[in-house]
Amino acid sequence: MSNVTFLSGEKIPLEMHKIRMVQKINLLPNEERLKSMKEAGFNTFLLRNRDVFLDMLTDSGVNAMSENQYAAMMQADDSYAGSETFYRLESVLQDIFKMKHFLPAHQGRACEHIISQALVKPGSTVLMNYHFTTTKAHIALMGGNVEEIICDEGLKIESDAPFKGDVDIDKLNEAINRLGKEKIAFMRIEAGTNLVGGQPVSMGNMREVSEICRKNNIPVVYDASLLSDNLYFIKVRDPKYKNVDIKEITREIASFMDIIYFSARKLGSARGGGILVSDDMLFNKMRELIPLFEGFLTYGGMSVREMEALAVGLTETMDINVISQTPIFIEALSDELAAKGVPVVTPAGGLGCHVDAKQFCSHIPQTEYPAGALAAALFIASGVRSMERGTLSEERNEDGNDRLAEMELIRLALPKRVFTLSQTKYAADRLAWLFNNRHLIGGLKFVKEPKVLRFFFGRLEAIGSWPDVLAEQFRKDFGDSL
Ligand SMILES: *Cc1c(COP(=O)(O)O)cnc(C)c1O
Repeated sequence: MSNVTFLSGEKIPLEMHKIRMVQKINLLPNEERLKSMKEAGFNTFLLRNRDVFLDMLTDSGVNAMSENQYAAMMQADDSYAGSETFYRLESVLQDIFKMKHFLPAHQGRACEHIISQALVKPGSTVLMNYHFTTTKAHIALMGGNVEEIICDEGLKIESDAPFKGDVDIDKLNEAINRLGKEKIAFMRIEAGTNLVGGQPVSMGNMREVSEICRKNNIPVVYDASLLSDNLYFIKVRDPKYKNVDIKEITREIASFMDIIYFSARKLGSARGGGILVSDDMLFNKMRELIPLFEGFLTYGGMSVREMEALAVGLTETMDINVISQTPIFIEALSDELAAKGVPVVTPAGGLGCHVDAKQFCSHIPQTEYPAGALAAALFIASGVRSMERGTLSEERNEDGNDRLAEMELIRLALPKRVFTLSQTKYAADRLAWLFNNRHLIGGLKFVKEPKVLRFFFGRLEAIGSWPDVLAEQFRKDFGDSL
């Protein structure tokens, strides 16, 4: 793969691609970054991209595409019904996953909507290794409950467990006994567990979970949005799979699942999404909903051009030199931050580098959103846009109090094949400066708070004048340098 060792002994994540199309980005001066953060209500989702230097908010829909993906877009077959593009995409998916049916949807949460509509009854429970924001919202919308049964290691910031996304088998058995199998709508396994730091799930764990659920007639649903990183980790962290082809690994995973869905904004480096299922009854149940919510069955809300790009992107995902790029860059960034004393989630996972705001801002109580404050401070210090994944991303309890998140993280996402090594080093350097000045960071409070998914467009303000003080310190230390 593409980690190479230099003469000095230094390990470098070497790019196995060259860049042939670029986009100019701007690094605003510190005062202007402070101003735009204030205008954005201290919510990195509300920043305008023209004010952002390195956009590490998410990889969703912003991964770099290959020349073959762009070329494929030109041969898309535009038609409402029966497009050849659909059949091309369907056959690629059937070949990779060996599942019978494919239903297109406009993105990952649309699949969650369809699956929840079809399977979740009021009062039923969905078991999962860990929730994702949109997943939980769709299950709640149908009157269902979410119960997380991730292994204890998954919620530890520092660990050397290779598969921290694994389901705790004892908790699974206990939940089935306690709730009764007929009360469990489905078991959801999320690849590359997003909210605990992009942590993978092991093959052995998926096999075991599937065996138990199938014995109890509980459908196993796989969220494959972050599959590509998870595939890489199975290959490099599980000695049994060292010599197994990526496609074979994928097919083995799929054999344990009853439904697979994905956001193609992540998997396949395009846009869109889809659901795979083999069982005819389940398929029929979900199929009815596609024309109602998504679009006709041969496009499901996607543009044909995106579908062509996706078909090629999925094929390229089966290449280890393609899918290793992101995780080895994330590891390099995490190692660099750890070496500078910055608390990061270990082992490094997929999706991005995850910084522990609980330790970083240990002086800020969770009710003042330490991870949100850190994300705002990082933007002021660097122009890097990260994402809060902590209490701010939760919803309030019925009593109106904040539900305190188990982890307070900020994620520096590395969209696939977008940033260079010097750009990631820049982010690490400014974050290290911030760590040395962390006492200057203060809390946040809401001024406008939506009820559902408040982190997307809620507005906050700083408690006290810490952002100004922080910006002043930055100018003192860096002088003319932006
Ligand atoms: C992004 C994501 C989703 C939702 O996908 P969208 O395309 O953004 O709607 C679902 N699950 C996981 C694990 C994700 O990372």
